[in-house]
Amino acid sequence: MKPKEQNTQSTNDLSRFKDLALEEACDVLRAYMFQRRQITFLEEAVALYYDPISDRVFLEDEQLNVAMKDENGDLKQWATCRVCGIEGFKDAHEPKFVDEALCMQCCVRDE
Ligand SMILES: [Zn+2]
Repeated sequence: MKPKEQNTQSTNDLSRFKDLALEEACDVLRAYMFQRRQITFLEEAVALYYDPISDRVFLEDEQLNVAMKDENGDLKQWATCRVCGIEGFKDAHEPKFVDEALCMQCCVRDE
């Protein structure tokens, strides 16, 4: 599996997390504590990151698989289309993704 481009604005330096991001980090870690046995898309070297631009806290492994908390507080796989850059939960209905790096629209356009 080829690594996707690293998101350079994200940080794992806790001193750079805003207060609200630290609170979110607690929730993400708690969700990970309960869910990690069921989460199959995260592999080795999982770490906590904060993106100050999008104000998101997430988990990312060494293959750059990303887990983000959904509205129910569950960790779900986050997808970013490598063609158009659209983002969302991989299993969401809108936008729809073929896999964690390609949206349905770009997949259809390629054919
Ligand atoms: Zn796309």
